[in-house]
Amino acid sequence: MLPYHPTALAIQQALEQVASDGSWRTYEGPHLVSLRSMLAQSFRREHVRLCCSGTFGIELAIRSLKLDEDAEVLLAGYDYPGNFSAIEAAGARVALCDVATGSWVPNIDALDAALGPKTRAMVISHLHGSLAPMESICRWARDKRLFVVEDACQEPGAILTSLAGETLAGSWGDISVLSFGGSKLLSAGRGGAVLTNDARLAQRMTIYCERGNDSYALSELQAAILIPQSERLQHDNALRRATANRLRKELLQFNWIHSGPDMSDCLPAYYKYGLRVSPTILESTRVQQFVSESKDENASALAIARRFVLKPLERGSIVIGAGFRGFANRSKNRCRSVGSLENSLAASDGTLVLHHSHLVDPQTGASNIEPVLAAFHKLNQELVH
Ligand SMILES: *Cc1c(COP(=O)(O)O)cnc(C)c1O
Repeated sequence: MLPYHPTALAIQQALEQVASDGSWRTYEGPHLVSLRSMLAQSFRREHVRLCCSGTFGIELAIRSLKLDEDAEVLLAGYDYPGNFSAIEAAGARVALCDVATGSWVPNIDALDAALGPKTRAMVISHLHGSLAPMESICRWARDKRLFVVEDACQEPGAILTSLAGETLAGSWGDISVLSFGGSKLLSAGRGGAVLTNDARLAQRMTIYCERGNDSYALSELQAAILIPQSERLQHDNALRRATANRLRKELLQFNWIHSGPDMSDCLPAYYKYGLRVSPTILESTRVQQFVSESKDENASALAIARRFVLKPLERGSIVIGAGFRGFANRSKNRCRSVGSLENSLAASDGTLVLHHSHLVDPQTGASNIEPVLAAFHKLNQELVH
């Protein structure tokens, strides 16, 4: 029998308990109350709104800002696709900013360059194991009187180090969002949470959601399985980080692929471990041939080279894929953008994301990184010949 992850066992026990005590069929039982208070305490937020998904959470967070009709919200040119739609659904307009060089997250220079007269807020996502510099972003935003919506869906429990000491990702924004989606680090199959210290924003969320009953609710059953995961989150994040650090070190020997920006002063969480195919891969004759045979005229050489890397990995049952498509090519009727968003384009073309189940398998508790390392070594053989 497989060794069982203690978190998986705790989830099983929680399920048995809610089945036997009947709390699963209640609208508002003890598990929702305790999950809210756990999240409030660990993220140091007074108000926690549990909801049906992270995507809806982003929309709800933006709705709570009550922006004017023609207001713009800054969004990075490389980000989760649902965030673009969430801004539109909340009735605001997207203004794209670039990400920092070689990164998946924006910095204040990138945000400042995209600032316009109608900009009122921004969505800042922590992605692929990198963390946005929240201290400087929040200081800048306060100066400019802009709201910060922090998207911590990929990195619950990640710890940022700053002058303020150690703080959790998700505890910086005027309003912050978590996801409990099926593949995420904290999972109830579906679900999300919106956190804030601002009573006005919390009140507006309540008014939007409560229609005789909570129309976008997280259920008691979902809360019950999230509690043991939240309790063990820091422990499990540390296990994932240990495997991620091993992977990072191993990959240093290859010049055609690299890990994301150095985050060694922080403690990231890895929902997906981000990798970048380096343009040096285009020097390989194998890859040159693969690119020249490609019929895709819209894809860049780097994006085609990424396919060369992905194919054997996917065939080897490694849970890896291309990163986000990004928004640099979105119609200018739908959003404003300044400059060429070249860093976002580079991220869209070169990013690979490895699922966290390779860092620590959520069922067995074991790391499953050996096949990944073996596959990269094999690929390297092909590339140098
Ligand atoms: C997954 C994710 C979301 C949305 O989460 P869902 O709960 O799946 O709707 C939002 N932002 C980012 C960055 C994500 O990775």
